[in-house]
Amino acid sequence: MTVKINDLKGCLFVFSAPSGTGKTTLAKRLCSDLEGMAHSVSYTTRAPREGEIEGVHYHFVDVPEFKDMIEQGEFLEWAVVHNNYYGTSRNKIQERLDNALDTILDIDTQGAAEIKRIMPGSVLIFIMPPSLEELKRRLFLRGTDSEETINKRLMRAEQEMQEAIHYDYIVVNEDFERALGDLKCIIRSEHLKTSRSSIELLKKHQ
Ligand code: 5GP
Repeated sequence: MTVKINDLKGCLFVFSAPSGTGKTTLAKRLCSDLEGMAHSVSYTTRAPREGEIEGVHYHFVDVPEFKDMIEQGEFLEWAVVHNNYYGTSRNKIQERLDNALDTILDIDTQGAAEIKRIMPGSVLIFIMPPSLEELKRRLFLRGTDSEETINKRLMRAEQEMQEAIHYDYIVVNEDFERALGDLKCIIRSEHLKTSRSSIELLKKHQ
Protein backbone atom coordinates (compact mmCIF):
# COMPACT_ATOMS: atom_id res chain seq x y z
CA MET A 1 0.00 0.00 0.00
CA THR A 2 1.35 3.43 -0.93
CA VAL A 3 0.27 6.59 0.85
CA LYS A 4 -0.36 9.74 -1.17
CA ILE A 5 -1.14 13.04 0.55
CA ASN A 6 -2.46 15.89 -1.60
CA ASP A 7 -2.88 19.54 -0.64
CA LEU A 8 -6.56 20.38 -1.06
CA LYS A 9 -6.18 24.13 -1.28
CA GLY A 10 -3.55 26.81 -0.89
CA CYS A 11 -3.11 28.55 2.47
CA LEU A 12 -3.63 32.21 3.11
CA PHE A 13 -1.00 33.57 5.50
CA VAL A 14 -1.81 36.97 6.91
CA PHE A 15 1.17 38.94 8.22
CA SER A 16 0.71 42.03 10.37
CA ALA A 17 3.39 44.04 12.09
CA PRO A 18 4.13 47.60 13.05
CA SER A 19 5.75 49.46 10.18
CA GLY A 20 9.53 48.91 10.24
CA THR A 21 9.43 45.45 11.85
CA GLY A 22 10.73 43.78 8.69
CA LYS A 23 7.65 41.88 7.60
CA THR A 24 7.99 42.85 3.94
CA THR A 25 11.61 41.63 3.83
CA LEU A 26 10.59 38.37 5.53
CA ALA A 27 7.68 37.90 3.11
CA LYS A 28 10.00 38.52 0.13
CA ARG A 29 12.45 35.87 1.33
CA LEU A 30 9.65 33.35 1.86
CA CYS A 31 8.40 33.95 -1.69
CA SER A 32 11.87 33.34 -3.14
CA ASP A 33 12.66 30.34 -0.90
CA LEU A 34 9.33 28.49 -1.00
CA GLU A 35 7.77 26.96 -4.09
CA GLY A 36 4.16 28.03 -4.73
CA MET A 37 4.34 31.04 -2.40
CA ALA A 38 3.50 34.56 -3.58
CA HIS A 39 2.88 37.91 -2.01
CA SER A 40 -0.40 39.67 -2.76
CA VAL A 41 -0.04 43.20 -4.15
CA SER A 42 -2.48 45.56 -2.39
CA TYR A 43 -4.12 48.71 -3.71
CA THR A 44 -3.39 51.97 -1.92
CA THR A 45 -4.12 55.67 -2.21
CA ARG A 46 -0.85 56.66 -0.53
CA ALA A 47 1.91 58.17 -2.67
CA PRO A 48 4.73 55.81 -3.72
CA ARG A 49 7.89 56.01 -1.60
CA GLU A 50 11.22 56.37 -3.31
CA GLY A 51 12.07 53.13 -5.12
CA GLU A 52 8.55 51.69 -4.96
CA ILE A 53 7.30 50.27 -8.23
CA GLU A 54 3.69 50.19 -9.44
CA GLY A 55 2.39 46.61 -9.48
CA VAL A 56 5.33 45.32 -7.44
CA HIS A 57 5.02 47.03 -4.06
CA TYR A 58 1.46 48.31 -4.49
CA HIS A 59 -1.07 49.28 -7.12
CA PHE A 60 -1.18 53.04 -6.61
CA VAL A 61 -4.62 54.54 -7.28
CA ASP A 62 -6.40 57.78 -6.38
CA VAL A 63 -9.27 58.07 -3.88
CA PRO A 64 -12.14 58.13 -6.46
CA GLU A 65 -10.70 55.02 -8.16
CA PHE A 66 -10.39 53.24 -4.81
CA LYS A 67 -13.96 54.15 -3.81
CA ASP A 68 -15.18 52.90 -7.16
CA MET A 69 -13.46 49.56 -6.52
CA ILE A 70 -15.15 49.34 -3.10
CA GLU A 71 -18.53 49.87 -4.75
CA GLN A 72 -17.80 47.20 -7.35
CA GLY A 73 -17.01 44.71 -4.54
CA GLU A 74 -13.47 44.20 -5.82
CA PHE A 75 -11.89 44.02 -2.36
CA LEU A 76 -11.75 41.03 -0.06
CA GLU A 77 -11.07 43.59 2.68
CA TRP A 78 -10.04 47.22 2.85
CA ALA A 79 -9.13 49.65 5.63
CA VAL A 80 -7.95 53.18 6.30
CA VAL A 81 -4.42 53.18 7.70
CA HIS A 82 -2.46 56.38 8.45
CA ASN A 83 -5.22 58.36 6.60
CA ASN A 84 -4.81 56.37 3.39
CA TYR A 85 -6.94 53.61 1.90
CA TYR A 86 -5.47 50.12 1.52
CA GLY A 87 -7.25 47.10 0.04
CA THR A 88 -6.75 43.47 -0.95
CA SER A 89 -8.04 42.46 -4.36
CA ARG A 90 -10.44 39.50 -4.24
CA ASN A 91 -10.00 37.77 -7.62
CA LYS A 92 -6.32 36.90 -7.70
CA ILE A 93 -6.33 35.44 -4.19
CA GLN A 94 -9.27 33.14 -4.80
CA GLU A 95 -7.69 31.92 -8.03
CA ARG A 96 -4.40 31.10 -6.25
CA LEU A 97 -6.08 29.29 -3.37
CA ASP A 98 -8.19 27.20 -5.76
CA ASN A 99 -4.98 26.19 -7.55
CA ALA A 100 -3.42 25.03 -4.24
CA LEU A 101 -0.98 27.96 -4.21
CA ASP A 102 -0.14 29.82 -1.00
CA THR A 103 -0.44 33.57 -0.60
CA ILE A 104 0.96 36.05 1.91
CA LEU A 105 -1.11 39.11 2.73
CA ASP A 106 0.79 41.95 4.37
CA ILE A 107 -2.06 43.88 5.97
CA ASP A 108 -2.94 45.82 9.11
CA THR A 109 -4.75 44.44 12.17
CA GLN A 110 -8.23 45.61 11.03
CA GLY A 111 -7.80 43.83 7.69
CA ALA A 112 -6.45 40.69 9.39
CA ALA A 113 -9.50 40.47 11.67
CA GLU A 114 -11.79 40.83 8.65
CA ILE A 115 -9.95 38.11 6.70
CA LYS A 116 -10.19 35.71 9.68
CA ARG A 117 -13.94 36.41 9.89
CA ILE A 118 -14.62 35.65 6.23
CA MET A 119 -11.93 32.98 5.77
CA PRO A 120 -11.54 31.12 9.08
CA GLY A 121 -8.95 28.79 7.54
CA SER A 122 -6.51 31.66 7.06
CA VAL A 123 -3.45 31.73 9.30
CA LEU A 124 -2.77 34.99 11.15
CA ILE A 125 0.85 35.70 12.06
CA PHE A 126 1.93 38.77 14.00
CA ILE A 127 5.54 39.82 13.49
CA MET A 128 6.73 41.57 16.62
CA PRO A 129 9.71 43.93 16.93
CA PRO A 130 12.00 43.07 19.86
CA SER A 131 11.21 46.46 21.45
CA LEU A 132 9.77 49.89 20.61
CA GLU A 133 13.26 51.39 20.96
CA GLU A 134 14.61 49.00 18.32
CA LEU A 135 11.64 49.77 16.06
CA LYS A 136 12.37 53.51 16.36
CA ARG A 137 16.02 52.87 15.48
CA ARG A 138 15.02 50.85 12.39
CA LEU A 139 12.53 53.47 11.20
CA PHE A 140 15.17 56.23 11.43
CA LEU A 141 17.68 53.98 9.70
CA ARG A 142 15.23 53.27 6.85
CA GLY A 143 15.21 57.02 6.21
CA THR A 144 11.95 57.04 4.21
CA ASP A 145 9.78 58.95 6.70
CA SER A 146 9.94 62.33 8.44
CA GLU A 147 10.35 62.47 12.23
CA GLU A 148 6.67 63.42 12.56
CA THR A 149 5.59 60.38 10.53
CA ILE A 150 7.93 58.12 12.52
CA ASN A 151 6.40 59.34 15.79
CA LYS A 152 2.91 58.64 14.42
CA ARG A 153 3.99 55.16 13.33
CA LEU A 154 5.44 54.46 16.79
CA MET A 155 2.22 55.52 18.51
CA ARG A 156 0.25 53.23 16.23
CA ALA A 157 2.81 50.43 16.76
CA GLU A 158 1.95 50.27 20.45
CA GLN A 159 -1.77 49.88 19.68
CA GLU A 160 -1.06 47.26 17.02
CA MET A 161 1.13 45.22 19.38
CA GLN A 162 -1.84 44.92 21.78
CA GLU A 163 -3.72 43.14 18.96
CA ALA A 164 -1.12 40.38 18.65
CA ILE A 165 -3.03 38.27 21.16
CA HIS A 166 -5.77 37.67 18.55
CA TYR A 167 -3.32 36.11 16.07
CA ASP A 168 -2.63 32.39 15.58
CA TYR A 169 1.15 32.87 15.90
CA ILE A 170 3.59 35.52 17.11
CA VAL A 171 7.09 35.68 15.65
CA VAL A 172 9.64 38.10 17.11
CA ASN A 173 11.95 39.57 14.49
CA GLU A 174 15.07 40.16 16.54
CA ASP A 175 17.30 37.97 14.42
CA PHE A 176 16.20 37.83 10.77
CA GLU A 177 17.31 34.25 10.02
CA ARG A 178 15.66 32.93 13.15
CA ALA A 179 12.37 34.72 12.40
CA LEU A 180 12.53 33.35 8.85
CA GLY A 181 13.06 29.83 10.23
CA ASP A 182 10.10 30.24 12.60
CA LEU A 183 7.88 31.32 9.70
CA LYS A 184 8.98 28.35 7.58
CA CYS A 185 8.10 26.00 10.48
CA ILE A 186 4.62 27.54 10.75
CA ILE A 187 4.03 27.26 7.01
CA ARG A 188 5.21 23.66 6.93
CA SER A 189 3.05 22.63 9.88
CA GLU A 190 -0.03 24.29 8.41
CA HIS A 191 0.46 22.15 5.30
CA LEU A 192 0.69 19.01 7.42
CA LYS A 193 -2.74 19.59 8.98
CA THR A 194 -5.22 16.86 8.13
CA SER A 195 -7.91 19.48 7.44
CA ARG A 196 -5.82 20.77 4.52
CA SER A 197 -5.06 17.42 2.91
CA SER A 198 -6.71 14.48 1.24
CA ILE A 199 -5.24 11.04 1.80
CA GLU A 200 -5.09 8.33 -0.84
CA LEU A 201 -4.13 4.80 0.07
CA LEU A 202 -3.06 3.20 -3.18
CA LYS A 203 -3.02 -0.58 -3.32
CA LYS A 204 0.01 -1.91 -5.14
CA HIS A 205 -0.75 -4.24 -8.05
CA GLN A 206 0.79 -7.65 -7.50
P1 5GP B 1 2.89 51.10 4.33
O1 5GP B 1 2.26 52.40 3.93
O2 5GP B 1 3.95 51.28 5.38
O3 5GP B 1 3.33 50.27 3.16
O4 5GP B 1 1.72 50.24 5.03
C1 5GP B 1 1.01 50.75 6.12
C2 5GP B 1 0.14 49.66 6.71
O5 5GP B 1 -0.89 49.28 5.80
C3 5GP B 1 0.88 48.38 7.06
O6 5GP B 1 0.46 47.96 8.35
C4 5GP B 1 0.42 47.40 6.00
O7 5GP B 1 0.43 46.07 6.47
C5 5GP B 1 -1.00 47.88 5.78
N1 5GP B 1 -1.56 47.41 4.50
C6 5GP B 1 -0.94 47.25 3.31
N2 5GP B 1 -1.77 46.76 2.39
C7 5GP B 1 -2.96 46.56 3.01
C8 5GP B 1 -4.23 46.05 2.59
O8 5GP B 1 -4.45 45.66 1.44
N3 5GP B 1 -5.21 46.02 3.53
C9 5GP B 1 -5.03 46.43 4.82
N4 5GP B 1 -6.06 46.32 5.66
N5 5GP B 1 -3.86 46.92 5.25
C10 5GP B 1 -2.83 46.99 4.36
